[in-house]
Amino acid sequence: MSLTDLVDLLGRDFMQRALLAALLTGLAAPAIGTFLVQRRLALLGDGIGHVAVTGVALGLLTGTSPTWTAVVVAILGAILIEVIREKGHTNGDVALALLFYGGLAGGVLITGLAGDGAAGLQVYLFGSVTSISSTEVWTTAALAAVVLALTLGLLPQLFAVASDPEFARVAGLQVRFYNLLVAVLAAVSVTVAMRTVGLLLVSALMVVPVATSQQVARSFRATLVAAMALGGIAAVGGLVISAALSARATVAPGPSIVLLALAMFAATWPLGVWLRHRRRLHAPFPSDSDAPHLTSGEHHDHVHGDDCGHPAVEHGDHVDYVHDGHRHAPHGEHYDEH
Ligand SMILES: [Zn+2]
Ligand SMILES: [Zn+2]
Ligand SMILES: [Zn+2]
Ligand SMILES: [Zn+2]
Repeated sequence: MSLTDLVDLLGRDFMQRALLAALLTGLAAPAIGTFLVQRRLALLGDGIGHVAVTGVALGLLTGTSPTWTAVVVAILGAILIEVIREKGHTNGDVALALLFYGGLAGGVLITGLAGDGAAGLQVYLFGSVTSISSTEVWTTAALAAVVLALTLGLLPQLFAVASDPEFARVAGLQVRFYNLLVAVLAAVSVTVAMRTVGLLLVSALMVVPVATSQQVARSFRATLVAAMALGGIAAVGGLVISAALSARATVAPGPSIVLLALAMFAATWPLGVWLRHRRRLHAPFPSDSDAPHLTSGEHHDHVHGDDCGHPAVEHGDHVDYVHDGHRHAPHGEHYDEH
């Protein structure tokens, strides 16, 4: 396809709608994904995506909008996952796996009953944003706007709960409510991203841009903003790539968006390695320190940073963070106590 053909294609009404939907998806998915990564729930979006397949199938079977049935089922699935997770059973991950397989298998079965077969579902599994109707674009846009408004509007509360639940509880925040809210917003993001990236790849758009921006950004807010920018670029860029290839082959936009996001991660990774190396050189731990570091073996869920909310204390040539009444400093993968 020549450049003029591509520009012509991008100017068409359906492509303009597709580009708008892709951009909004690319902004909203990493925004909520940043909180999932912070809470070490990177694959939550993937689980919700599998459950949402049943929602889409119910829409196809009953002749209602698959977007709305997917939203309802995805939210119910997200709440169920959050409740199972909160119970903290030892085989909570088995319960989740059963839910994911049930969602996918049930969805494929119901789609078959609806007479649509695999073709009807494929649009939702791998995305097909170019066939999106204008009603669906406005639904997608409205849902994405809700996700972005709530995520950015409640940023301080959501961050406090995601980074340090004990600290947030002591500070009087409704930890349970905000955890559920993040799960519900993740479910809505999955539905928003459904037509662009597809349900089976949606988690990649929630996680990969976050992993990329973590390579260079030091604070949580910087990570969030950079992840949104990278997500928007990947979504729009991936869509343009799949459009450019459309003359010779049929390439769903989902895979090209995800591969573009992964390419950005691969390109940033050496920079991240270099930055971490340089930080170590600038803040070495001296062996003759007056307060020697003791390695603490316990698991540390929270990542201390520039604006993590904990008092930072200058100590020699590094920074200690006051957390739960003790002082410690990040050291490679673990924390050292004082
Ligand atoms: Zn150490
Ligand atoms: Zn902290
Ligand atoms: Zn120290
Ligand atoms: Zn700590």
